[in-house]
Amino acid sequence: MDFSTVCVHGSDRRYDVTGAVSVPIFQSATFAHPGVNMSTGYDYSRAQNPTREYLEAAVARLEGGSDALAFSSGMAAVALVMELFSPGDHIIASDDLYGGSIRLFAGPSTARGIKFTYLDAFDAASLADAVTPATKALFIETPGNPMMRVIDIAAAAEFASARGLLLIADNTFMTPYLQRPLELGADIVIHSGTKYLCGHNDTMCGFAVVKDAGLSERLRFLFKTVGPCLAPFDSWLLIRSLKTLALRMEAQQSNARKLAEWMLAKPEIKAVYYPGLPDHPQYDISLRQASGFGAMISFSVDTPETAVRILERVKLILYAESLGGVESLITYPMLQTHADIPREERETKGIDGRLLRLSVGIESADDLIADLEQAIGGR
Ligand SMILES: *Cc1c(COP(=O)(O)O)cnc(C)c1O
Repeated sequence: MDFSTVCVHGSDRRYDVTGAVSVPIFQSATFAHPGVNMSTGYDYSRAQNPTREYLEAAVARLEGGSDALAFSSGMAAVALVMELFSPGDHIIASDDLYGGSIRLFAGPSTARGIKFTYLDAFDAASLADAVTPATKALFIETPGNPMMRVIDIAAAAEFASARGLLLIADNTFMTPYLQRPLELGADIVIHSGTKYLCGHNDTMCGFAVVKDAGLSERLRFLFKTVGPCLAPFDSWLLIRSLKTLALRMEAQQSNARKLAEWMLAKPEIKAVYYPGLPDHPQYDISLRQASGFGAMISFSVDTPETAVRILERVKLILYAESLGGVESLITYPMLQTHADIPREERETKGIDGRLLRLSVGIESADDLIADLEQAIGGR
Protein backbone atom coordinates (compact mmCIF):
# COMPACT_ATOMS: atom_id res chain seq x y z
CA MET A 1 0.00 0.00 0.00
CA ASP A 2 1.29 3.43 -0.86
CA PHE A 3 2.48 5.78 1.88
CA SER A 4 -0.27 8.34 1.34
CA THR A 5 -2.94 5.62 1.56
CA VAL A 6 -1.53 4.43 4.89
CA CYS A 7 -1.59 8.07 6.09
CA VAL A 8 -5.34 8.22 5.41
CA HIS A 9 -6.35 4.72 6.45
CA GLY A 10 -3.86 4.16 9.25
CA SER A 11 -3.87 0.67 10.61
CA ASP A 12 -6.29 -2.15 9.86
CA ARG A 13 -7.83 -2.25 13.30
CA ARG A 14 -11.45 -1.18 13.68
CA TYR A 15 -12.84 -0.82 17.19
CA ASP A 16 -16.32 0.27 16.43
CA VAL A 17 -19.47 -1.58 15.40
CA THR A 18 -21.26 1.59 14.23
CA GLY A 19 -19.15 2.06 11.12
CA ALA A 20 -17.74 5.38 12.34
CA VAL A 21 -15.24 6.61 9.75
CA SER A 22 -13.31 8.57 12.36
CA VAL A 23 -11.54 6.41 14.95
CA PRO A 24 -13.44 6.76 18.25
CA ILE A 25 -11.77 8.46 21.20
CA PHE A 26 -11.78 5.85 23.95
CA GLN A 27 -11.71 8.31 26.84
CA SER A 28 -11.40 5.60 29.46
CA ALA A 29 -8.66 5.08 32.02
CA THR A 30 -9.63 1.49 32.71
CA PHE A 31 -11.46 -1.42 31.06
CA ALA A 32 -13.81 -3.95 32.65
CA HIS A 33 -12.89 -7.63 32.49
CA PRO A 34 -15.38 -10.15 31.11
CA GLY A 35 -14.37 -12.68 33.77
CA VAL A 36 -11.60 -13.71 36.14
CA ASN A 37 -8.31 -14.07 34.29
CA MET A 38 -9.99 -12.64 31.21
CA SER A 39 -9.29 -9.39 29.36
CA THR A 40 -10.73 -7.60 26.34
CA GLY A 41 -7.11 -6.93 25.42
CA TYR A 42 -7.29 -3.62 27.29
CA ASP A 43 -6.82 -3.34 31.03
CA TYR A 44 -5.57 0.13 31.90
CA SER A 45 -4.78 3.03 29.56
CA ARG A 46 -1.22 3.55 30.79
CA ALA A 47 -0.40 0.18 29.25
CA GLN A 48 -2.70 0.47 26.24
CA ASN A 49 -5.74 2.32 24.96
CA PRO A 50 -7.55 1.51 21.70
CA THR A 51 -7.23 5.02 20.25
CA ARG A 52 -3.52 5.17 21.03
CA GLU A 53 -3.04 1.66 19.73
CA TYR A 54 -4.56 2.61 16.37
CA LEU A 55 -2.19 5.59 16.09
CA GLU A 56 0.82 3.49 17.09
CA ALA A 57 0.03 0.85 14.49
CA ALA A 58 -0.25 3.53 11.81
CA VAL A 59 3.09 5.13 12.74
CA ALA A 60 4.81 1.72 12.90
CA ARG A 61 3.55 1.02 9.41
CA LEU A 62 4.68 4.38 8.05
CA GLU A 63 8.20 3.92 9.47
CA GLY A 64 8.46 0.29 8.37
CA GLY A 65 8.62 -0.89 11.99
CA SER A 66 6.90 -3.69 13.87
CA ASP A 67 5.91 -1.51 16.83
CA ALA A 68 5.60 2.17 17.69
CA LEU A 69 5.01 3.68 21.13
CA ALA A 70 3.19 7.02 21.40
CA PHE A 71 4.47 9.37 24.11
CA SER A 72 3.25 12.61 25.64
CA SER A 73 6.22 14.46 24.07
CA GLY A 74 9.33 13.85 21.99
CA MET A 75 11.52 14.30 25.06
CA ALA A 76 9.50 11.64 26.90
CA ALA A 77 10.39 9.27 24.04
CA VAL A 78 14.11 10.13 24.18
CA ALA A 79 14.11 9.83 27.99
CA LEU A 80 12.43 6.42 27.93
CA VAL A 81 14.85 5.11 25.30
CA MET A 82 17.68 6.19 27.63
CA GLU A 83 16.19 3.82 30.26
CA LEU A 84 17.48 0.96 28.10
CA PHE A 85 20.98 1.85 29.31
CA SER A 86 22.75 1.20 32.61
CA PRO A 87 25.40 3.00 34.66
CA GLY A 88 28.76 2.69 32.92
CA ASP A 89 27.28 2.42 29.43
CA HIS A 90 28.68 4.72 26.76
CA ILE A 91 26.81 6.33 23.88
CA ILE A 92 28.32 8.05 20.85
CA ALA A 93 26.11 10.89 19.61
CA SER A 94 26.28 13.27 16.69
CA ASP A 95 26.87 16.79 17.96
CA ASP A 96 24.29 18.59 15.76
CA LEU A 97 21.44 17.58 18.08
CA TYR A 98 18.23 19.12 19.37
CA GLY A 99 19.21 21.16 22.45
CA GLY A 100 16.73 19.30 24.67
CA SER A 101 18.39 15.97 23.89
CA ILE A 102 21.78 17.42 24.80
CA ARG A 103 20.29 18.78 28.05
CA LEU A 104 18.82 15.36 28.90
CA PHE A 105 22.11 13.57 28.19
CA ALA A 106 24.20 16.10 30.13
CA GLY A 107 21.79 16.13 33.09
CA PRO A 108 19.65 13.12 34.07
CA SER A 109 21.38 10.55 31.83
CA THR A 110 24.88 11.55 32.99
CA ALA A 111 23.63 11.52 36.60
CA ARG A 112 22.55 7.90 36.00
CA GLY A 113 26.14 7.07 35.04
CA ILE A 114 25.75 6.97 31.27
CA LYS A 115 28.67 8.51 29.38
CA PHE A 116 28.47 10.39 26.09
CA THR A 117 30.93 11.25 23.36
CA TYR A 118 29.85 13.78 20.73
CA LEU A 119 31.21 13.54 17.21
CA ASP A 120 31.30 16.32 14.71
CA ALA A 121 32.16 14.09 11.75
CA PHE A 122 30.15 10.90 12.13
CA ASP A 123 32.29 8.78 9.79
CA ALA A 124 33.75 5.30 10.27
CA ALA A 125 37.22 6.63 11.23
CA SER A 126 35.90 8.99 13.93
CA LEU A 127 33.52 6.31 15.19
CA ALA A 128 36.33 3.77 15.41
CA ASP A 129 38.35 6.24 17.50
CA ALA A 130 35.43 6.96 19.83
CA VAL A 131 34.16 3.42 20.42
CA THR A 132 35.10 1.72 23.71
CA PRO A 133 34.23 -1.67 25.24
CA ALA A 134 31.45 0.16 27.16
CA THR A 135 29.84 1.63 24.03
CA LYS A 136 26.26 0.45 23.65
CA ALA A 137 24.68 2.77 21.10
CA LEU A 138 24.98 5.47 18.47
CA PHE A 139 22.51 8.35 18.67
CA ILE A 140 21.99 10.48 15.58
CA GLU A 141 19.72 13.17 14.28
CA THR A 142 19.81 13.74 10.54
CA PRO A 143 19.53 16.36 9.18
CA GLY A 144 21.01 17.81 12.36
CA ASN A 145 19.74 20.67 14.42
CA PRO A 146 20.23 23.51 13.64
CA MET A 147 23.16 23.22 11.21
CA MET A 148 21.37 20.70 8.94
CA ARG A 149 24.35 18.38 8.70
CA VAL A 150 23.41 15.05 7.17
CA ILE A 151 24.68 11.69 8.45
CA ASP A 152 24.93 8.58 6.29
CA ILE A 153 22.41 6.36 8.13
CA ALA A 154 23.31 3.12 6.33
CA ALA A 155 27.02 3.62 7.06
CA ALA A 156 26.30 4.33 10.74
CA ALA A 157 24.06 1.24 10.85
CA GLU A 158 26.79 -0.91 9.34
CA PHE A 159 29.28 0.32 11.95
CA ALA A 160 26.75 -0.28 14.74
CA SER A 161 25.63 -3.74 13.71
CA ALA A 162 29.20 -4.99 13.20
CA ARG A 163 29.85 -4.16 16.89
CA GLY A 164 26.48 -5.04 18.40
CA LEU A 165 25.57 -1.41 19.09
CA LEU A 166 22.08 0.03 18.80
CA LEU A 167 21.57 2.76 16.24
CA ILE A 168 19.02 5.31 17.46
CA ALA A 169 17.90 7.89 14.90
CA ASP A 170 15.82 10.99 15.60
CA ASN A 171 13.79 11.31 12.37
CA THR A 172 11.78 14.38 13.40
CA PHE A 173 12.98 16.69 10.60
CA MET A 174 12.30 14.29 7.73
CA THR A 175 9.35 12.12 8.82
CA PRO A 176 8.88 8.65 7.32
CA TYR A 177 7.46 10.34 4.23
CA LEU A 178 10.98 11.39 3.22
CA GLN A 179 13.30 9.07 5.17
CA ARG A 180 12.90 5.69 6.87
CA PRO A 181 15.95 4.94 9.04
CA LEU A 182 14.72 1.45 10.08
CA GLU A 183 14.90 0.39 6.43
CA LEU A 184 18.48 1.71 6.33
CA GLY A 185 19.48 -0.40 9.34
CA ALA A 186 18.63 1.75 12.37
CA ASP A 187 17.21 -0.05 15.43
CA ILE A 188 15.12 2.70 17.02
CA VAL A 189 13.53 5.71 15.37
CA ILE A 190 12.53 8.61 17.59
CA HIS A 191 10.13 11.42 16.74
CA SER A 192 9.03 14.60 18.24
CA GLY A 193 5.52 14.05 16.89
CA THR A 194 4.83 17.60 18.03
CA LYS A 195 6.47 18.70 14.78
CA TYR A 196 5.55 17.36 11.32
CA LEU A 197 3.53 14.32 12.38
CA CYS A 198 1.14 16.60 14.25
CA GLY A 199 1.80 19.42 11.82
CA HIS A 200 -0.54 22.02 13.28
CA ASN A 201 1.44 23.43 16.22
CA ASP A 202 -1.35 22.38 18.56
CA THR A 203 -0.44 19.06 20.21
CA MET A 204 2.64 17.66 21.94
CA CYS A 205 3.61 14.06 21.30
CA GLY A 206 6.51 11.72 20.65
CA PHE A 207 7.21 8.29 19.20
CA ALA A 208 9.73 5.49 19.46
CA VAL A 209 9.54 2.99 16.60
CA VAL A 210 11.35 -0.36 16.40
CA LYS A 211 11.44 -3.39 14.15
CA ASP A 212 12.90 -5.94 16.58
CA ALA A 213 10.41 -7.84 18.79
CA GLY A 214 12.83 -8.09 21.75
CA LEU A 215 13.46 -4.36 21.72
CA SER A 216 9.74 -3.69 21.47
CA GLU A 217 9.14 -5.88 24.53
CA ARG A 218 11.82 -4.07 26.57
CA LEU A 219 10.44 -0.66 25.62
CA ARG A 220 6.82 -1.74 26.27
CA PHE A 221 7.81 -2.89 29.77
CA LEU A 222 9.51 0.44 30.51
CA PHE A 223 6.60 2.34 28.95
CA LYS A 224 3.91 0.82 31.13
CA THR A 225 6.20 1.07 34.16
CA VAL A 226 7.22 4.72 33.76
CA GLY A 227 3.94 5.95 32.19
CA PRO A 228 4.85 8.61 29.59
CA CYS A 229 1.84 7.64 27.41
CA LEU A 230 -0.08 9.84 24.98
CA ALA A 231 -3.66 10.66 26.03
CA PRO A 232 -6.61 9.30 23.99
CA PHE A 233 -7.73 12.71 22.72
CA ASP A 234 -4.21 13.70 21.68
CA SER A 235 -3.86 10.31 19.99
CA TRP A 236 -6.99 11.10 18.00
CA LEU A 237 -5.61 14.51 17.00
CA LEU A 238 -2.51 12.75 15.70
CA ILE A 239 -4.55 10.19 13.75
CA ARG A 240 -6.31 13.14 12.14
CA SER A 241 -3.00 14.91 11.45
CA LEU A 242 -1.40 11.90 9.80
CA LYS A 243 -4.10 11.87 7.13
CA THR A 244 -2.51 14.93 5.50
CA LEU A 245 1.15 14.17 6.27
CA ALA A 246 2.11 13.43 2.65
CA LEU A 247 0.31 16.52 1.34
CA ARG A 248 1.78 18.79 3.98
CA MET A 249 5.33 17.53 3.48
CA GLU A 250 5.09 18.08 -0.28
CA ALA A 251 3.74 21.62 0.13
CA GLN A 252 6.22 22.55 2.86
CA GLN A 253 9.28 21.23 1.05
CA SER A 254 8.27 22.86 -2.21
CA ASN A 255 8.00 26.19 -0.36
CA ALA A 256 11.32 25.55 1.39
CA ARG A 257 13.12 25.06 -1.90
CA LYS A 258 11.76 28.39 -3.20
CA LEU A 259 12.78 30.18 -0.01
CA ALA A 260 16.27 28.64 0.03
CA GLU A 261 16.83 29.76 -3.56
CA TRP A 262 15.60 33.26 -2.78
CA MET A 263 17.94 33.41 0.23
CA LEU A 264 20.96 32.52 -1.89
CA ALA A 265 20.45 35.70 -3.91
CA LYS A 266 19.83 37.96 -0.93
CA PRO A 267 22.95 40.04 -0.04
CA GLU A 268 22.15 40.25 3.70
CA ILE A 269 21.99 36.43 3.91
CA LYS A 270 25.53 35.11 4.03
CA ALA A 271 25.01 31.36 4.32
CA VAL A 272 22.06 29.03 3.74
CA TYR A 273 21.96 25.59 5.37
CA TYR A 274 19.47 23.47 3.45
CA PRO A 275 20.16 19.85 2.42
CA GLY A 276 18.42 20.40 -0.92
CA LEU A 277 21.03 22.85 -2.20
CA PRO A 278 23.54 21.09 -4.46
CA ASP A 279 26.44 22.75 -2.64
CA HIS A 280 25.30 21.38 0.74
CA PRO A 281 28.33 19.31 1.89
CA GLN A 282 26.28 16.11 2.23
CA TYR A 283 23.96 16.67 -0.74
CA ASP A 284 24.88 13.26 -2.24
CA ILE A 285 24.06 11.42 0.99
CA SER A 286 20.65 13.12 1.12
CA LEU A 287 19.95 12.11 -2.46
CA ARG A 288 20.80 8.51 -1.61
CA GLN A 289 18.98 8.03 1.67
CA ALA A 290 15.95 10.33 1.50
CA SER A 291 13.27 11.00 -1.07
CA GLY A 292 13.32 14.74 -0.38
CA PHE A 293 15.05 17.45 1.61
CA GLY A 294 12.42 18.58 4.08
CA ALA A 295 11.34 22.08 4.97
CA MET A 296 13.82 23.25 7.59
CA ILE A 297 16.28 25.98 6.63
CA SER A 298 18.92 27.57 8.81
CA PHE A 299 20.61 30.71 7.58
CA SER A 300 23.21 33.13 8.72
CA VAL A 301 22.77 36.87 8.17
CA ASP A 302 25.38 39.63 7.95
CA THR A 303 25.06 40.95 11.51
CA PRO A 304 23.30 40.08 14.78
CA GLU A 305 21.35 43.35 14.31
CA THR A 306 19.88 42.02 11.06
CA ALA A 307 18.92 38.79 12.85
CA VAL A 308 17.13 40.70 15.60
CA ARG A 309 15.45 42.99 13.04
CA ILE A 310 14.07 39.97 11.16
CA LEU A 311 12.73 38.39 14.36
CA GLU A 312 11.07 41.59 15.47
CA ARG A 313 9.65 42.60 12.10
CA VAL A 314 8.24 39.39 10.64
CA LYS A 315 4.44 39.56 10.49
CA LEU A 316 3.23 36.40 8.80
CA ILE A 317 6.09 34.19 9.97
CA LEU A 318 5.85 33.79 13.73
CA TYR A 319 8.83 34.18 16.01
CA ALA A 320 8.30 31.00 18.01
CA GLU A 321 10.05 27.82 18.99
CA SER A 322 9.08 24.51 17.38
CA LEU A 323 8.77 23.49 13.76
CA GLY A 324 6.99 21.31 11.28
CA GLY A 325 3.55 22.90 11.41
CA VAL A 326 1.47 24.46 8.65
CA GLU A 327 2.35 27.89 10.09
CA SER A 328 5.88 29.09 9.28
CA LEU A 329 7.96 29.71 12.40
CA ILE A 330 11.33 31.36 12.85
CA THR A 331 13.65 30.83 15.82
CA TYR A 332 16.88 32.17 17.22
CA PRO A 333 18.72 28.93 18.13
CA MET A 334 21.27 30.81 20.24
CA LEU A 335 18.55 32.07 22.61
CA GLN A 336 16.00 29.27 22.25
CA THR A 337 16.58 25.64 21.28
CA HIS A 338 20.33 25.72 21.97
CA ALA A 339 20.50 28.27 24.83
CA ASP A 340 21.74 25.66 27.33
CA ILE A 341 24.86 24.82 25.34
CA PRO A 342 27.98 26.64 26.61
CA ARG A 343 28.67 29.72 24.47
CA GLU A 344 32.08 28.72 23.15
CA GLU A 345 30.92 25.25 22.15
CA ARG A 346 27.83 26.73 20.54
CA GLU A 347 29.75 29.30 18.55
CA THR A 348 32.28 26.81 17.17
CA LYS A 349 29.27 24.96 15.78
CA GLY A 350 28.11 28.15 14.07
CA ILE A 351 25.20 28.77 16.46
CA ASP A 352 25.81 32.46 17.02
CA GLY A 353 23.97 35.77 16.96
CA ARG A 354 23.68 35.70 13.18
CA LEU A 355 22.03 32.29 12.83
CA LEU A 356 18.28 31.91 12.37
CA ARG A 357 16.23 28.76 11.78
CA LEU A 358 13.11 28.79 9.66
CA SER A 359 10.44 26.11 9.62
CA VAL A 360 8.60 26.62 6.36
CA GLY A 361 4.84 26.14 6.45
CA ILE A 362 2.18 25.83 3.78
CA GLU A 363 1.41 29.53 3.23
CA SER A 364 2.07 30.91 -0.26
CA ALA A 365 5.84 30.99 -0.87
CA ASP A 366 5.47 34.48 -2.38
CA ASP A 367 3.88 35.78 0.81
CA LEU A 368 6.63 34.22 2.92
CA ILE A 369 9.33 35.76 0.74
CA ALA A 370 7.58 39.17 0.87
CA ASP A 371 7.45 38.91 4.65
CA LEU A 372 11.17 38.17 4.96
CA GLU A 373 11.92 40.88 2.39
CA GLN A 374 10.12 43.57 4.41
CA ALA A 375 11.63 42.27 7.67
CA ILE A 376 15.19 42.46 6.38
CA GLY A 377 14.38 45.94 5.11
CA GLY A 378 15.87 47.96 2.26
CA ARG A 379 19.30 49.48 2.36
C1 LIG B 1 11.32 19.17 19.33
C2 LIG B 1 12.31 18.09 19.16
C3 LIG B 1 12.49 17.11 20.14
C4 LIG B 1 11.73 17.13 21.45
O1 LIG B 1 10.36 16.91 21.24
P1 LIG B 1 9.19 17.55 22.14
O2 LIG B 1 7.97 17.05 21.47
O3 LIG B 1 9.36 19.04 22.05
O4 LIG B 1 9.38 17.06 23.52
C5 LIG B 1 13.39 16.09 19.89
N1 LIG B 1 14.09 16.05 18.74
C6 LIG B 1 13.94 16.98 17.78
C7 LIG B 1 14.73 16.88 16.52
C8 LIG B 1 13.05 18.03 17.96
O5 LIG B 1 12.93 18.97 17.01
